Order: sequence, then C-alpha cells, then structure tokens
Amino acid sequence: MDVGSLSGVGPKTAPLFAALGIETAPALLEYLPFRYDDLRFPTPAARLGESGGEENAVGRVTDVKERRVRGLEIVELRLIDDDGVPFVAKWIGRNRYVYGRFREGMRLFVRGRIERAFSGPIVNVSHYAHLEEGEPYHGELVPVYRASKELASRKIAAVVKKNFSRLLAELPLDPVPASLARARRYDSLDDAYRAVHAPRTPEEAERARERFVFGEFLALATAAQLRRRERESDHDARPLAVPPDLLERFEREIPFSLTGAQRRVIGEIWSDMSRNVPMNRLLQGDVGSGKTLVAAAAVVLAAQNRMQSALMAPTELLAWQHAGKLAPLLLPFGIALEAVFGSQSARSRSAALEKLAGGEAAVAVGTHALLTQGVDFDRLGLTIIDEQHRFGVEQRARLRAKGVSPHTLHMTATPIPRTLAQSVYADLDLAVIDELPPGRTPIETFAVRSSRLDRVYEFVRKNVAAGHQAYIVAPAIDEGESMLTSVVAEAERLKREVFADLRVGLLHGRLASREKETIMGRFVRGELDVLVSTTVVEVGVDVPNATTMVVLDAQRYGLAQLHQLRGRVGRAAAKSYCVFVYPNDAGERERLEILTQTTDGFKIADEDLRLRGPGQLAGTVQSGAGDLRLGDLLRDVEVYRAAKLAAERIVADDPHLERAEHAGLRAVLATAPSTRALVYSS
Ligand code: ADP
Ligand code: MG
Repeated sequence: MDVGSLSGVGPKTAPLFAALGIETAPALLEYLPFRYDDLRFPTPAARLGESGGEENAVGRVTDVKERRVRGLEIVELRLIDDDGVPFVAKWIGRNRYVYGRFREGMRLFVRGRIERAFSGPIVNVSHYAHLEEGEPYHGELVPVYRASKELASRKIAAVVKKNFSRLLAELPLDPVPASLARARRYDSLDDAYRAVHAPRTPEEAERARERFVFGEFLALATAAQLRRRERESDHDARPLAVPPDLLERFEREIPFSLTGAQRRVIGEIWSDMSRNVPMNRLLQGDVGSGKTLVAAAAVVLAAQNRMQSALMAPTELLAWQHAGKLAPLLLPFGIALEAVFGSQSARSRSAALEKLAGGEAAVAVGTHALLTQGVDFDRLGLTIIDEQHRFGVEQRARLRAKGVSPHTLHMTATPIPRTLAQSVYADLDLAVIDELPPGRTPIETFAVRSSRLDRVYEFVRKNVAAGHQAYIVAPAIDEGESMLTSVVAEAERLKREVFADLRVGLLHGRLASREKETIMGRFVRGELDVLVSTTVVEVGVDVPNATTMVVLDAQRYGLAQLHQLRGRVGRAAAKSYCVFVYPNDAGERERLEILTQTTDGFKIADEDLRLRGPGQLAGTVQSGAGDLRLGDLLRDVEVYRAAKLAAERIVADDPHLERAEHAGLRAVLATAPSTRALVYSS
C-alpha cells in the first residue's frame, strides 16, 4: 500500500513523506521515533529547571500580558501551580496563534525549556493544552520523528496514529527468527511496533526499540558471517612464497629498523598471503605509527612472487603522498610504480595503464580512478585500501574484481577499541600497530584562548625562523554567516599583515585537484613556510619539517579529529608543537586539556566517547559496517554481541538460509544491494 492512500495523506503530503524515504505503509511503520517527549508528569513549579531539558508544568493563570511588536507576538502568563507556587509561561514568535487565547482563571498545561529568573522559573513554551476545571492531567509520551521543514514530526505522528491498524495489516519483514525472538523474550512484531510508536512507558519503548536494533544487527552480522564463509571457501588466491631471508633484506633496504609492532604485523600479513584463501585484514595504527612501511612490505612480497599490487586512497592528495613515500621504499627491490588519478592527463594515464596491463609496472597507486573501466592488471595479487571506512563495500569489491581472488589489506588510522573493532569488522582479521617508531620527541600541546592569537602567531614566526614549517587549520572556506574563521580570509590577512615577509600558501577542498597538488608539493619541498588549510590536511600528509600545527576554532572538532590533525607534526626528530585555539568563552578548556595530557589515540577515543556520547564515533564505525538505521554500534554493543553470536549459529546450521524460520532474514538481506549477492549466490 502506498503511503498516499492512508488517511490524512493527500497528493500534497505524499511527496513530503517520500522525501523522507517513506513511500509505502510498511516503510512508515518502520520509521521509528528517535525520542519521546515525556508529557506524562508535571513538575512542581518549585523544582522547575533542575533537569536542564524541557519540562512540564500545570497551573492556573493569574495574569495575562500580551504585546505585538513588529509582527512578533509576545505573550507572558503568570500562573500558580497546585502547591500555590508561582511561575511564568512565555511565548515569543511569529504566527504562534496564541495571542488573545488566555484568560485569568484558566487551567493550563505547558511544556518548554526552563529559564530560571530571579522572580522564579519561566517556561519558554513549546507545547500547551487547556485543561477543564477539575480535569486531572493525563499526559502521554509523544513520539518525535525525524522530520523535514515541510513535514513536522507532529504530522507524522498523527498519520501513524490514525492509520495504525491499517499499518499493522501489512507488517514489514521480520529478520528475527521466531525461536530467537522467544528466547530473547521479545514481543510479537505487531506489539513491538505498537510499543515503539505509542508507548505507555519509556521502558516499554526501549524494549521494543531493542527488538528492532537486534533485528538490524542480526542482518548485518549474518551478512558479515556469510561473507567470511564465502571468503574462506575461496581457495583461488595465489599462495605467495615467503623467502626466509626476505624480512632481513627488507630491513636492510629501508632507512631505519622496524619497530617490534611493525615486524609483528608484517609477519601476520605475510603469513596470510602465503595461504590460498584470500587475505582480508584490517591494519589499524595511530597516525605516525608507520603503516606505509607495512604496506610496502606486503607489496614487496607480492612482487617477489611476480604479482601486482594496487593501493587505493580516498583523495588525490593522499594517493599522491602514498606514491611519493612508497616509490623510494620499493626502488631497491626494482619495483616500478604507476599513479592513476582522475585529474591526470590522458597521455600520462594511458601510459600508466599500458604498463599495468602489460605487467611492467608492479604497483598502481591511485584514487577511485582505479575502479574505472580500462584500468586492467596483468596479475593483480594484492589490493590495499587506505582509510577503508571512506569506501563502500561495493567499491572495495570492484577493486578486488580486477584480480583473481587477490589478497586485501585495509588500513585505518581511526582508533577504535579492539573489542568493538572485532564486532564491527566481523569479516576482517585485525592487525594492530600499537607502538610508535622511536626517536620522536613528544609533541608539546597547548590550548590557548583566541584573545592570545597574536602570541600564537609570534610563536609560529619563531619556529619558521628556525627553519621549520607550520600548518594553520581553520574550519570554514569562506566567510559566511557562521562565526567561524575562514581559511581564505585568514590566509589573506596573514599574507598581508602578520606574515607579510613569509611564504604563505592556501589549501582547501574547493580548489581544483591540480592546484591542490601544486600547493601541497610546494609545501612538501619547503617552498612555503606556512600552509593555511581546511582539514583536507587531516589524514596522511607527511611533511617532517613541519613542526607547528595551529588549529583555529578547535571547539568545532571532536577530540579524535584534533588528534588526527596533531598527527601531521612530530614526524621527525625535531621538537614539535600543536596549539589549539578556542574562543574566549570557557568550557572548551577542560576538553582540550585532555589532548595536552595524552597522545594515546585509543585513550583519546575513549574520552571523546565519554564526553560526546556514542554518536560521535558512530559515523566512522557505521560506515565500516554498512548503513544502520537504528542501532548504534557503541551504545548497543551488547545487543550487537548477542546478534553476532546468533548469526554465527544461524550460518553454521543453515548456510543458505533455506529454513522456513530464516525466510524473513533471507528476505531482508535480499533487499539491500550490498547483501543481495550473498543470499542469491548460493
Ligand atoms: P602512518 O601510520 O600515519 O601512515 P607513516 O607510515 O606515514 O605513518 O609513518 C610516519 C613516519 O614515521 C614516516 O615519516 C616514516 O618514515 C617514519 N617511520 C615509519 N616507521 C619507522 C620506523 N620503524 N623507525 C623510524 N621511523 C619510522
Ligand atoms: Mg599514512
């Protein structure tokens, strides 16, 4: 049934629902509230304002003041609650339609954010209702849906309520097998939908939500399990021979000795690559931990076995930098490298493609451009995906399809607690570099108020005078309506006034790729002293002579991201500094202090999690896992564990999901493009 045939949805509103992804009745039922406004209990006026959020109050109007000022309605009521304590209810705004509606003596329910004034609490009303004389107050939990400007949550709630029994007549697929739902004491599917759209208590809503989250995780974990199973049944990978002296030779040819952690993960990776089952390993290592060298070791092993490698990075800047770092590491082994970029000239592209197709070049480094048609390999045996969470499952598969069951190494600098990583990347094996190369002087980190920016720039000047380079990072490109520092404006100001005698460059995401490369190249070669940039420098850029990082408007970024930015400096023996500049209002300081006290990426990720709640890492983590509508892999980690165990059992017992009780799960997997192939390949 189309959403348009529901009562309360007409030809005008149906497209508004469609814009939110709701085209059918089951889709509406699956559109779950993300929170509830609790209108059940009024707070006594004497205690209003304690929660910090919106609160409810009930009282009798004792005084009405109304004004209209330039189209604004301002209504201010005095009330007293049942205990005789006074409070104020206030509306300010356009078209609120409250003007003239209130009289002394009326009983009202009001809800809103509380302001605590000297004279008593003020409710900034978002919601109100008239109460009849003597009528006891009966409030509800009001579901709040993700809405759009044209389609309010209230309208969605009304349509759900009005059509509820019709919606239940067409239940969405239930991925949770009946026996499992019973074992976990979940309600029947229709009860769960009732409980989540119209709960009587928050506990009831939460339990119902868990059922849906479990279902979502079960599908995700089953897909991962099927993928793992499929991979392990693939014995077409080329088993590579590891010459006994290869590690020794490798260490002789690189400019330093490997850290213990690098040696260990190289061992793990080489041992994977010596099997006929394709490797699928995630290499996790903090910024600066030396992942490039590990990637080089994998490439060397492939080349020793006359197999080609392809490394794919999310941006041209990164791909370009990888090429620059890998080439000298590979040169002593006679391994030739070709780059494949979108912005490359047709001539250099076709020369590169010819060498890759003919097998003269052993390594391709590039961006998504590697995925295009016409990029062919002679014998692709290894694919390496940098910052793997920035690529989708399908893109990674497309690169692998250029070879015959190639080994795959995924790399990430995002620190995620290990147990979590194991559940999220269920079809990957993990290798962690948990040790930084020696000889680094720790980066000294400061948090500084913006009123002292002049001093910060003096400090930059001093370091430049000592022969070093500096990054200055700002959040916005242009000067806009936001109060944020714009890189364009700040670069202009620095060039003209503060650093008029220095060589200042400007880098941001809107520049053409070629221009970005030119600027970055000049900075790398030391032809620029100061690089003013947006966070495009965030990942991977490596300029050892850059020893100062200044981040303006540091309040804009999560700790993990600030830590990534800091990782751009401290890449050589010279003493490095990182300065986080925050606005004069306090509050930020405590958060930034964490960074001044530790450089351990995992610890910082934990703190970030504690401060900002689970949503924070969710973006990165979830894109690693695919699309999640409901579950939050950090908050719901226990539910995920249970779902993963269940998935393992299901796939072991019924690998093709043929049993009747797995029909729902199978059907759910078949509806998503990224998992469809798994259930139809059997
Ligand atoms: P990331 O893990 O962030 O990609 P890189 O591979 O770019 O780190 O390495 C960071 C820096 O450390 C590079 O300048 C690299 O040359 C250097 N490096 C890597 N491994 C070692 C090592 N074992 N000893 C000394 N320096 C190293
Ligand atoms: Mg790197």
